[in-house]
Amino acid sequence: MEEKYKKVIVNVFKRFRKKHDSGPKKGIPFGVHFVNVGLIAFQIALLLEKMNYFNKSDVETVFLAGLFHDMNKIMDRSMRKGAMKDNIKIVLKENLDWEVVDEKITILSEIIPLHSINNPLGSSLYISNKKKVMAKIIQFADTLDLLKSANFEYEKKIVSKLEFYLKEIRRLVPDFKYTEIIYHYISDFRGLLTNIIHEKIMHEFSFSIPIARFVDGVIYLSREKDYNPELLYENMIKNVSEQVFNEIFDIDYTISVKNKSVREGILNYTSDDAVDIIWQKFPENIEELKNCLKSYLKELYGDSKSKKYKPIYDEFERIFSQNKNVEEKKEELKILIENNKDLKKKVKTYKDELKKYLENRLVLYKLNSGNKRKIFNMDNYGKYKTTCSICGSEFDVSESMKSEMPDGLKPQLFTNNYIANKLADPKRQICSICKLQFIANKKNRYIYKNDKKKITRNMYFLIIPYNFYPDELLEALEKELDQIKDKNKGNVKNARKLDLEEVEFFKEFFGNSQKENEILNFKSMNMNSIIIYFKEYTNSKSENESILKAYSEALLIQEKFPFKILITNYPQLFDEDIRFIDDLKIQNFSSKLSYINEEKLKKLYKLNLEIPGIFCSGKGKMKKDHFYEIMTQDSLTAFSVFISRVFEEKMLRIGKNLLIIRKEIFGGEVMDELKYMAEFAQEKTKNLYKVSKHQVVKYFDILKEPLKKSDLKLENIEFLRNYLFSKLENLVSFTKKEELFEYADNFIKFVEKIGNGNFEIGKRKVLYNWKKYRDVFYGYVWESYFENQDKEDGNNGKN
Ligand SMILES: [Zn+2]
Repeated sequence: MEEKYKKVIVNVFKRFRKKHDSGPKKGIPFGVHFVNVGLIAFQIALLLEKMNYFNKSDVETVFLAGLFHDMNKIMDRSMRKGAMKDNIKIVLKENLDWEVVDEKITILSEIIPLHSINNPLGSSLYISNKKKVMAKIIQFADTLDLLKSANFEYEKKIVSKLEFYLKEIRRLVPDFKYTEIIYHYISDFRGLLTNIIHEKIMHEFSFSIPIARFVDGVIYLSREKDYNPELLYENMIKNVSEQVFNEIFDIDYTISVKNKSVREGILNYTSDDAVDIIWQKFPENIEELKNCLKSYLKELYGDSKSKKYKPIYDEFERIFSQNKNVEEKKEELKILIENNKDLKKKVKTYKDELKKYLENRLVLYKLNSGNKRKIFNMDNYGKYKTTCSICGSEFDVSESMKSEMPDGLKPQLFTNNYIANKLADPKRQICSICKLQFIANKKNRYIYKNDKKKITRNMYFLIIPYNFYPDELLEALEKELDQIKDKNKGNVKNARKLDLEEVEFFKEFFGNSQKENEILNFKSMNMNSIIIYFKEYTNSKSENESILKAYSEALLIQEKFPFKILITNYPQLFDEDIRFIDDLKIQNFSSKLSYINEEKLKKLYKLNLEIPGIFCSGKGKMKKDHFYEIMTQDSLTAFSVFISRVFEEKMLRIGKNLLIIRKEIFGGEVMDELKYMAEFAQEKTKNLYKVSKHQVVKYFDILKEPLKKSDLKLENIEFLRNYLFSKLENLVSFTKKEELFEYADNFIKFVEKIGNGNFEIGKRKVLYNWKKYRDVFYGYVWESYFENQDKEDGNNGKN
């Protein structure tokens, strides 16, 4: 896909954020729909280009017509008016960074109105076949975007329409053979495991064209004669279970080097492979090797004491007692196992379980045998010995091992019979599917096998489409990802600092947030309907802090791309995790964070990116990041933290950003009286850079004693006023009496305001928070200093 097309997509995502407020697309942003239609249409146009029916320019026309097919919505008027040439010109100019020739705009204005149902049939009679084909493509793409799941078995109306449009295209272009729309669907979602399964299934569909990837499956275009669901299903169950197993299964977990023994998973390998694997694990010590092999024989057959198997173990001992080299021993052992293959235990392997899983969950379009009713055997449901303690499904269970479990989940069962945090045996029973799912997740973060503390700082971002991702979009992303990977080949360290300048989507996604110590891992990115990546927040002091940063970044991504985002630290997901309505879901979201205003968070986080370290104090090892502290405190404390710990250290650098920060923290609210007093103090001190904080805040501190001592009903306010005045008079000379009284009055009003009109309450509050108000005062002094500087600069400019 051309770079310029990618740019338009990003533009359309950014510009058309408004959500449909009614109809079948309710809740989905306009931009998402436009891009979906544009890219579906683009893919079909490419097919026609391959057949030499379209040329390059036609493909562009179709792409643009798809992107801007809803000219009525874009211009907010009728389709007839919206799609007039002048309007199209405006919209193209706003969203494209290349010129479109007038001729093309004319074509667009002809074909865009054709896609709407209300268009009178007559007008299409005068249009060339090519334009009719273009209009049919847009109709097809627009209709396809109505589907909410890859399984369209129950969307007969939509599907018959889609098939109708495809046949219409073929009527006009006889060489066009892709007239069938088909799908695969899996009735279960389990994070990475499901993504891997989808990927493998798509390979089996290589005869067709994947056109839209949903969370639960994929929709393809196929040639009628190519699609044979029965045959496909048979092959698929066999091949996919095999491939998924090979991709996920981790041999590390089948051998415990520490205990010199194997775990049950080893039986998923052929015995030849298993022997080789074990041999490699113990290259030096023959005794250790022997012990491990012996435990493997136990898994294969049974106990050595049994009469039936004794000859095998005797032979095993003989092989190891001989004076032969290790390679010969290995071959003899393999032969021994081969000769006794009939005695092997019958075990259900992961592959078998995966087969069963697929048989129960996979649905193919028009598959007759697939219509067999899917009733799960629930006989075992609820019994601990036979039910998976994670998913409760019907698959075979076995004891869980620590090595298979996600971090934070204990292999032991929790039971009501003991105190809450007691870990009691027996161990959890979990099914093979859950085990594979966990192993898949563990494997995916192998780059950063750090200590556990670090892992809690990892945040996974799941970027979930509103309804689906068109194949072209994902392919473009995939290509950029490959580019990045190529550049950093074999160099894990470099992969941490990526040059994102050349890549359109990734730059938009992650470009600005690429910061020191915040590491992105693209490795765990997955291309099937959901994009997963994880980021490590090495500087975070707590999980909540990582969550807050991830939260901020998600908001920034959503500013550019209207996707739903899920943030979690455990990506072993299930169906209910990803089917949420809100735009943003954060697992483990603490109540502390729920009070944060999103707009404020976004603005301050952006500032944090623009001026790295703006919320940090100290240097080197003493460096402390106060962003989290500031975001989670009440406004008064937050601003005080900023002023006293951050601002004072680097006033020069932060300068005018202080104004923005104060405004964001207090939400624009201005304490007029305090501001008046600050202006007064600023005037007295002139150049703030040359005086200490103490010299400035004395104008505030001097008022504390009188306030403390004042014990007044309202009639005694005059007394306080005079008291304040006398203090001020000692502090400043050559100042008019009235001015000092006004200063005192402002202070009294300020105290009253803090108490919501009640002076006594205000007094208590102000005294209690004296230091914090003093910091706000100090901040105001700086503000008025910067404002005055601005004014002077402005005047100088004029002169
Ligand atoms: Zn399970």
